[in-house]
Amino acid sequence: MEKKLQSLVHSAKNEIEKVMTMNQLLDVKAKYLGKKSEFNSFMQGLKDLSSEERPLVGKLINEAKQQISQFLDDKKVEIERKKIDQLLKAQTIDISLPGRAFNLGHKHVLAKTVEEIEDIFVGLGYVVKEGPEVESDKYNFEMLNLPKDHPAREMQDSFYITEELLLRTHTSPVQVRSLLENVDKEPLKIICPGVVYRKDDDDQTHSHQFMQVEALVVDKTTTLADLKGTLLLLARKLFGENRQIRLRPSYFPFTEPSVEVDVSCFKCNGDGCSMCKNTGWIEILGAGMVNNNVLSAAGFDPEIYQGFALGMGVERIAMLKYGIDDIRLLYQNDLRFNSQF
Ligand SMILES: [Zn+2]
Repeated sequence: MEKKLQSLVHSAKNEIEKVMTMNQLLDVKAKYLGKKSEFNSFMQGLKDLSSEERPLVGKLINEAKQQISQFLDDKKVEIERKKIDQLLKAQTIDISLPGRAFNLGHKHVLAKTVEEIEDIFVGLGYVVKEGPEVESDKYNFEMLNLPKDHPAREMQDSFYITEELLLRTHTSPVQVRSLLENVDKEPLKIICPGVVYRKDDDDQTHSHQFMQVEALVVDKTTTLADLKGTLLLLARKLFGENRQIRLRPSYFPFTEPSVEVDVSCFKCNGDGCSMCKNTGWIEILGAGMVNNNVLSAAGFDPEIYQGFALGMGVERIAMLKYGIDDIRLLYQNDLRFNSQF
């Protein structure tokens, strides 16, 4: 009898150890301690024993039963603790982990350059004007002294949408629009920053999309000397107080006379280096006195009104200022590049 009980306790212990879930545990409990269990039949058999044997055997049965109950209780605690551990693992926020770093963005180098140029002109009393990027042939060319079939249109190979609509090739149509809006012919001082498009093949120095800032002054007294003074101030604000400028005669349909503007090299101070191709000068923009035909087309009598215009490529200014050697870098959105500025 004692051996039977011991082996029963032993096999119960083995089975309980393998149990994983509460349901399995209840099955094992029924098997060993339930009404149809071997245990129960031992209990039933007690009544057939003699009065001397009964208490002894009864004690053995009880001890075995207590052992099995203890195994069951221990397992129950173990299963419940595991369940709580799993829940805790699944639901806990580990506050010891470092937070994810937030990368703060900043302005693109082109936006920065435009703002820098805007600041210089706003400081001189200019107003910033913007206009549409899809423009009519009339505003983009005709009213700027570039009638259809004018050979100079070849200089600005264009993206046409219809015969009369195109992506603007310069921000000059904003000048035209501003002149037309100015019905009272008040003195006008504006700059037009913005994106323009030309059918160029992209390479190190060309991009089919680029940015310009143009400036226009129209009143009754503005002269080439005012233009020169403005250009010198601009060059010095952009490239340093010791800069000099040089004007070379040039041709643009919308200005007459027209000039190309060079700034003395800020890298070698004019001695000659790779940046200035050993000339000591770097070309930065084009300018001139507003062509009489442009004034007339916008309803300004050239006998009374005059003015100057200038225009620069923002990419070129940014590339010179920040030592960027490929215009395409400005449009590739590579953070390794962008975050340098
Ligand atoms: Zn140089």
